Amino acid sequence: VAVKTRRRVIEFDQRMAARSAARIALIGELKAAIADEQFCLHFQPKLNLRTNNINQAEVLIRWNHPERGLIAPGGFIELAEQTGLIRDITRWVLLQVYGLTPLCLRQNLKLSMNLSAIDLEDPDLLQFCKNLHRGRPEGTRHITLEITESAAMKNPDQALELLTGLAELGFQIAIDDYGTGYSSLAYLRRFPVTELKIDRSLVQGADLDADSQIILESTIQMGHTMGLVVTTEGVEHDAEFEVVRKLGVDYVQGFWLSRPMPYEEFRLKHLVGNHD
Ligand code: C2E
Ligand code: CA
Ligand code: CA
Ligand code: CA
Repeated sequence: VAVKTRRRVIEFDQRMAARSAARIALIGELKAAIADEQFCLHFQPKLNLRTNNINQAEVLIRWNHPERGLIAPGGFIELAEQTGLIRDITRWVLLQVYGLTPLCLRQNLKLSMNLSAIDLEDPDLLQFCKNLHRGRPEGTRHITLEITESAAMKNPDQALELLTGLAELGFQIAIDDYGTGYSSLAYLRRFPVTELKIDRSLVQGADLDADSQIILESTIQMGHTMGLVVTTEGVEHDAEFEVVRKLGVDYVQGFWLSRPMPYEEFRLKHLVGNHD
């Protein structure tokens, strides 16, 4: 028995060692990716149901890995958060999006990007954004920063201070993935938010289930009562789109409209016809 246990312990150690070696290797690759800017942004349009136009898009990061090809955020954002490398990634995304703001002005386009919980605790992020703003003060008007409710609630006082500073610079703030956490909208109203993005989990199946539809309806109404623009995310099917349209949502995002895609494809498919 002792020998068997010992063998198991050794096997376990070897597995753990292999796993941490893989993790360390990935951290090294991620650092190189930041230095070499091996990232790109994909654009997912949002349909404005008031005007029936596309004048907004969310940018979503991809890692263009030299050997493994395009890696979705699910494959590296968590590691980037654990190691603090997300701070550099967020700055890269901010620089890209900020660089696109003259184009946004011409195309009448607004862009949303994601901030992580770690960014909300970053003491230097506000100064970084102030520097961007100083270079082109009108740029911030075209950018929405998305934060999840759980990120905002992790350290609410610090988040409030940062978000207030960012809102003063002219950035819009959106609550992302709403409906996946436990905080109340009333509490989230303490933050300078202008948009509520209702998570796919509340939309999914709302066409088939009366109870889900009631929850969705009251969430949309509550958002409107609080003066927020309301977006539903993850709309995939015609029937789901019909439900959210009838419930009076302002913006729709999801595969029903379009998957995220590289900028040039996004422009040809969704912006041609917008003024340029
Ligand atoms: P998110 O911010 O909630 O972004 C929406 C995600 O849902 C995207 O996945 C998008 O491709 C996917 N999606 C959109 N429409 C549909 C639909 O109709 N059905 C389904 N099943 N999915 C849909 P993606 O691009 O893989 O991003 C995943 C998450 O990674 C994002 O969730 C966000 O939390 C994070 N992320 C993406 N880009 C960045 C970034 O630049 N910075 C940070 N910090 N996080 C990012
Ligand atoms: Ca988002
Ligand atoms: Ca979301
Ligand atoms: Ca999400």
